[in-house]
Amino acid sequence: MNIQLDTAPCGYFSISSEGIIQSVNGTLLSMLDYERGELLGRHIESAMSVTNKLFFHTYFYPYIQLHGHVNEMYVSFRTSTGQDVPVLLNGVRQQRDSETFIDCVVLAMRKRIEHEKDVLQSKARLEELYQKTNEANRKLELLHAEYETKQQELLRINHQLEAMAWTDTLTGLGNRRYFQEKLLAALASYRENNVPFSLFIIDIDHFKNINDTYGHPVGDQVLTNLARLLQSMTRENDIVARYGGEEFVAILPDTDQETGLSIADRYCATAASTMLGEYQITISIGVATATYGDTDQSLLNQADLALYASKSSGRNQATHAASLVRS
Ligand code: GH3
Ligand code: MG
Ligand code: MG
Repeated sequence: MNIQLDTAPCGYFSISSEGIIQSVNGTLLSMLDYERGELLGRHIESAMSVTNKLFFHTYFYPYIQLHGHVNEMYVSFRTSTGQDVPVLLNGVRQQRDSETFIDCVVLAMRKRIEHEKDVLQSKARLEELYQKTNEANRKLELLHAEYETKQQELLRINHQLEAMAWTDTLTGLGNRRYFQEKLLAALASYRENNVPFSLFIIDIDHFKNINDTYGHPVGDQVLTNLARLLQSMTRENDIVARYGGEEFVAILPDTDQETGLSIADRYCATAASTMLGEYQITISIGVATATYGDTDQSLLNQADLALYASKSSGRNQATHAASLVRS
């Protein structure tokens, strides 16, 4: 055997068709920890474990008989000290001097197997990580859904709180804060469009008597019923609110002095002729109509003075602030 084959970086052996080792190179000998003399003339299967012998019998011989070669067959040899050496084997059937030989090269596979094990372990770890990521994602999705629900709930509560902040709890009308916002908005709109609006302050006459005679809960009922009556009398864009106690306010857009006063008169007449449950009341109204230079405060002052005039003149009537200036 020439030196190149003897020291090639792969094992080499040649066997007879019966499997008797005819030649073996140095690389394979040192791989299997044998002296050359120990292997030559022996059966190749003597350097294999029982299972590998069986495998060799079942696959190697029939295959090479049939095809004349074997490629990348994976088997294990056994060293002289009983260690298994996994190898990849290529074999080819050759005729030399009218004799049949099977020449084989073997490549040790230990590193490759360890590498494969590493790859498998990495794959398993990756799968584990992937699963954990998936789980974390699912949890995140759940948390997200929960967060969305809470957010919706919060929005709903916020809406509720906001509505409550603008609403009078007894009558359900807008409260003083609501009215003040609307009054400022009406003034802004008036300054822009120059279309006058009117403001009413509506006060129940001798309301104290209702409370004193029938009790506070009846007083509350009367307030609620009057709120409903006022609402039923307003036009679509009018605003009614409870100003406080037994006082209500109304903002009537696009309403001049004359119209404002006549509407206020109608409110008084309707209130006086309508039973609020079992009770009858009258109301007095002070009316003011926005003119150039008015502020929310000046309008409220005028309406308040007009209301005072209605009360002084015998109640159950409406007075326009403009008539006070004239008189
Ligand atoms: P006037 O004709 O001069 O307006 O007489 P009045 O009795 O209506 O006026 P006064 O200011 O003397 O009394 C108002 C009463 O309204 C006194 C107060 O107890 C009552 N009142 C204020 N807020 C409420 C309420 O929310 N519920 C009830 N039941 N009574 C209220
Ligand atoms: Mg009052
Ligand atoms: Mg009153």
